[in-house]
Amino acid sequence: MIEEFNMTLDNMDTYTTGTGQKLYIHKATKECFEFNCVIHNPSNHVMKDFPTHWRADRGLMERICPHGVGHPDPDDLAFKYRKHGKIKMKYEAVHGCDGCCVSLENV
Ligand SMILES: [Zn+2]
Ligand SMILES: [Zn+2]
Repeated sequence: MIEEFNMTLDNMDTYTTGTGQKLYIHKATKECFEFNCVIHNPSNHVMKDFPTHWRADRGLMERICPHGVGHPDPDDLAFKYRKHGKIKMKYEAVHGCDGCCVSLENV
């Protein structure tokens, strides 16, 4: 998410993930509300109350389920779908899963 917004620190906000990471993130834009946004406008998905966790190595926001498993956030995947297309999105969605993110079937 971060690297896809070419911005300076001046026009960025800070955000603390559910696992306590401090991130620089994009300010809310029209797109955040026109679609959904993991930060500004989460959709009503099954993991929306799970803590967020930024995977800097993957450039992906995850949700950590009560069993400690990280699942890609569906709103971040939808964002990647809009920016990069379905193949890239499917690749990003690959993860070791314990079944808590059933909604990903519907992304
Ligand atoms: Zn999963
Ligand atoms: Zn789980």
